[in-house]
Amino acid sequence: MSFQTDTIHAGVGPDKAYGAIMTPIYQSSTFVFEDIGKHKGFDYTRSGNPTRKALEDNLCALEGCSFAVAVTTGMAAITSTLNIFKSGDEIICTDDCYGGTSRLMKTVEEHFGITVHFVNLQDAANLLPYVNEKTKAVWVETPSNPLLNLVDIAAVGALAKERGLLTIVDNTFLSPYGQKPFELGADIVVHSTTKYLNGHSDVVGGAVLSNSEELDARLKFIVNALGTCAQPFDCWLVLRGIKTLVVRMREHERNAQAVAEFLEQHGRVKRVFYPGLPAHPQHELAKKQQRCFGGMVSFELDGGIEDVNRVLKGTKLFALAESLGGVESLIEHPATMSHASMDRDHREAAGITDTVIRLSVGIEDCDDLIEDLRSALG
Ligand SMILES: *Cc1c(COP(=O)(O)O)cnc(C)c1O
Repeated sequence: MSFQTDTIHAGVGPDKAYGAIMTPIYQSSTFVFEDIGKHKGFDYTRSGNPTRKALEDNLCALEGCSFAVAVTTGMAAITSTLNIFKSGDEIICTDDCYGGTSRLMKTVEEHFGITVHFVNLQDAANLLPYVNEKTKAVWVETPSNPLLNLVDIAAVGALAKERGLLTIVDNTFLSPYGQKPFELGADIVVHSTTKYLNGHSDVVGGAVLSNSEELDARLKFIVNALGTCAQPFDCWLVLRGIKTLVVRMREHERNAQAVAEFLEQHGRVKRVFYPGLPAHPQHELAKKQQRCFGGMVSFELDGGIEDVNRVLKGTKLFALAESLGGVESLIEHPATMSHASMDRDHREAAGITDTVIRLSVGIEDCDDLIEDLRSALG
């Protein structure tokens, strides 16, 4: 089946009890046994739930992999994945990753003795000096947040594979519509389903996907042991959101491209970060690796913090809020909001200056969005 058909049908079928067209929400903590050791496939919702299973099967079809586990947030997906490592292990991570990811990686380092090297992976070979006998994985986020830098997943995956390292890709920014990390050599894909997959800013959720039975068994054990599993109602909401993923992503991209082109020619804008612009230094890689350029656009304002504040408060349609990937447009200030948890040195080394503004371009009318930005930029 095609991707678009799978978004609507994969993993869900008319309900076996009454034929309901929509997946029922099995809002039950426990399931009745028929006999000693005999039940209908589920015994307790922390270990498994039919609504969660429907979402997991749907996500597998979309990412083109065999195994998935839906968890309670994107951070729970990352926490659960990091639990496959142990004290003494080393991980190499993209340096301009999501702020929560870098905060968690630092915590993991302090409390569990797992060393994390933050490395600029725009050139895959940059990871090589950090590889030693303790290295276990390379953590990739592409496009990156908030500067939309790309990592060549196939290049990193090949280097990692040769050295026996796992390649883990956070695919939140593009969703499986926009990028297929397993086809490029990833071993594990993590998602914050909070963003484009759900798409309606009304749930927080996450998922970890893999293609190996062994990894899946470890991940399912960890999720059950830690208790990071997703709740049935949240899974149902994400399943509902996914049904419109393709049409939403097309509109996000169309609007983001127009917004990026508008900003690029605006006198108050120093630099625009969007992989769909031919001026983006990795535009060719974006065309090769991604199916779409996505809905995230960042830009550097020509001015000081006061000017930044005027723009942030000046938009009417773009709401001043964190998060991304919903149908409504958002504007935010990475240095004090999404990336405040990253220490200043790390942030500045990654190029996230105080005058960078990030937009999550929604699916409102494009002319209205551009007019809103034009009036806020003054
Ligand atoms: C939001 C986000 C996360 C964390 O997800 P939550 O659902 O907020 O816990 C992780 N990675 C990326 C790239 C994100 O954008």
